[in-house]
Amino acid sequence: MTRVVVVGAGPAGLAAAAHAVRAGADVTLLDQSAAPGGQFHRLPPGAPHGFEAILSRCSWWPESTVWAVAGKRLHVLRGPADGAGRERHVLEPDALVLATGAHDRTLPFPGWQLPGVYTAGAAQALAKGERVAVGRRVVVAGAGPFLLPVAESLLAVGARVLAVLEANPASTVRKGWSWRDARKAGELARYAAALARHRVPYHLGRAVVEARGDDRVRAVVTARLRADWSVVPGTERTYEADAVCVGHGFAPRPELAVAAGCALDGGFVRVGDDQRTSVPGVFAAGELTGIGGAVAAAAEGAVAGCAAAGGVPGRALLRERDRLRGFAARLAAAHPVGAAWPGWLREDTIVCRCEETTAGELTRAARDPAAPGPHALKLGTRAGLGPCQGRLCGAAVSALCGTAERHHRPIAQPIRLGELAEVKENDA
Ligand SMILES: Cc1cc2nc3c(=O)[nH]c(=O)nc-3n(C[C@H](O)[C@H](O)[C@H](O)COP(=O)(O)OP(=O)(O)OC[C@H]3O[C@@H](n4cnc5c(N)ncnc54)[C@H](O)[C@@H]3O)c2cc1C
Repeated sequence: MTRVVVVGAGPAGLAAAAHAVRAGADVTLLDQSAAPGGQFHRLPPGAPHGFEAILSRCSWWPESTVWAVAGKRLHVLRGPADGAGRERHVLEPDALVLATGAHDRTLPFPGWQLPGVYTAGAAQALAKGERVAVGRRVVVAGAGPFLLPVAESLLAVGARVLAVLEANPASTVRKGWSWRDARKAGELARYAAALARHRVPYHLGRAVVEARGDDRVRAVVTARLRADWSVVPGTERTYEADAVCVGHGFAPRPELAVAAGCALDGGFVRVGDDQRTSVPGVFAAGELTGIGGAVAAAAEGAVAGCAAAGGVPGRALLRERDRLRGFAARLAAAHPVGAAWPGWLREDTIVCRCEETTAGELTRAARDPAAPGPHALKLGTRAGLGPCQGRLCGAAVSALCGTAERHHRPIAQPIRLGELAEVKENDA
């Protein structure tokens, strides 16, 4: 029987596990979270998740973090991330499905380091998972349809949403969105109704360009943008707000795939028709391979799980996956990141929040002929050398400095030195 390990129990990983089981494989599904569901199906602790049927048919490893990969050999730590005594395990399956998802992408702006500035995903996770609102008077801004469920969740937990701002103008947004996807149209109509009910204005072609306050966010400055995201002078407007949620799309979490040796395209894992990566026996699915939402992630997961188990994905499955990938491409066209966003920055705007590297330091270093290339830039300015290892600032630093983003992080997840030094690993 083919042994398949699926890393990540979001929509992609759950579908991969279900289809690998269906194709006759012995499946281990693991996730660093205590509950399955990933980002999309996030629920308050203890709430029924509805995935019992699939979990009962595979080995389910919650609170299990893969911190390193070599080929198909996985190094796993089992136990609560903030507890002592996590157990080390090694897994070496016949086939591996990576479904590690994505994290928020947020562009810097003056004041974004102030308490009260949240990524849209963090605000959403707190609202959905803990029923906590990040503020009382909140501005939601950035790019992409994800801003709408974030605003809806904030309203549901009692926040007053002052405005939702999409940075792209109507002409750009119209390019991608069409009414051919009825399910999405229904979802959009629901969000629009929620905003209307609470009298929340939705503005296109406007962005948060500054957060103000000494100790925390007290005010948020917005401005009208041109299609390339340059600011139209004189269009600034200030809101009194105690929180701002910003999201400019998502960035994949490719660390494990990079460690396994998988080739990337523009930061996303390159996959073939059956979700096979460039490394034999390693498959990838979900937002790791492209940003398209939970339904597209699940469709990719279904194909990956079936193929990883040695099955042949059916035509209907492939057609559905391709249709949803088409939607993902339209979404990217409708909500691009405009190239002129660095115009919002000042010399002293922090870009790498971990190391407090400013835009001025970065652009000076990028022009310095004595420090050519991303490696020297990183060592010279410390951008990307802090705890997040460039996950948050990497794309912004590359855009500002004209360098390639580096995805190679040998330890994919934080691990204590004591855990690293421990010799014994339990083979499973
Ligand atoms: C913070 C956040 C909130 C979001 N909320 C919503 C929402 O409310 N509505 C919506 O439509 N879309 C939301 N999205 C978009 C959403 O991510 C996708 O549409 C969908 O969940 C993608 O599915 P996936 O399976 O590819 O990844 P995910 O759902 O992200 O699942 C990936 C899983 O992999 C696990 N994982 C990652 N690395 C490791 C590792 N090294 N070891 C073990 N486990 C690992 C993670 O814990 C996670 O459970 C959100 C995205 C983010 C980043």
